Amino acid sequence: MTDQTLLDVVDDLTLPKNHRVVQDILDPIIDPSTGVQAVDEDGNDRWHHRGTRKVPARTDALLQQLTDAITASMGGPSGKGKLAHERLPLDADALARAVRITAAIGAWCVERELRPTRNPIVDLRSWYASTRSDNAFDEDRYLTTARGWVREVQGLLNPWDEGDLEDPCPRCGANVWHATDDPEDSPGRPRPLAYKFRRTDGDDMVANAWAYCRACDPEAKDPWGVRELKYEIELAAVVGPSQREDGPDTPVDTTGGNLPNLA
Ligand SMILES: [Zn+2]
Repeated sequence: MTDQTLLDVVDDLTLPKNHRVVQDILDPIIDPSTGVQAVDEDGNDRWHHRGTRKVPARTDALLQQLTDAITASMGGPSGKGKLAHERLPLDADALARAVRITAAIGAWCVERELRPTRNPIVDLRSWYASTRSDNAFDEDRYLTTARGWVREVQGLLNPWDEGDLEDPCPRCGANVWHATDDPEDSPGRPRPLAYKFRRTDGDDMVANAWAYCRACDPEAKDPWGVRELKYEIELAAVVGPSQREDGPDTPVDTTGGNLPNLA
């Protein structure tokens, strides 16, 4: 996740994506006495799980999914034929986010003297194209914001699965965390390192997964990619926690991870 360029992020937001998803292979269990599919005590069909396979899937651009979700929830063309995770119930939150993202993209266009169309996909692509000939363009200034939109829209359409790790945090060394700021108020809980992933990401699941420490970065302002975290955990086991002094507000170092100072 942390080695994405601005173009990767703009593509995620504006272009459909072909990828592969893991699908369960299920065979009906036939009841020999009736010759039809057996049911359990609750009346649910019984299936034999024969394994999994990867199947090709096409996912619309994130901003398109967001727009579709809002249109569908307002009674427009329905979300039929979409994967379940692309559909949304009526959601004022989605609408508010879409309006805010569209306005921000419009403002970026105005900065570059482009006239926004209010179609966020068209506007974001023309904005990106306009930056290519600009040698003074500061990509990092926009990358964090655009990445935030990706995470925001994905989180809305397709919530993250969560897990946690038993290792102490390689950054602060904590092995407990508190649910509130006031330790008096909440007893320490084990396993401060939490990670988030989406099963539906298929081949991209590990690359898209991210992790944070609930002790030193409870708002996940400075998350790790999971591979990066694994490396830091191994390193911290040898040299101790990095105790970075720059704190969690600095952007993620996209070049080589947040390596501790070994000097
Ligand atoms: Zn920590």
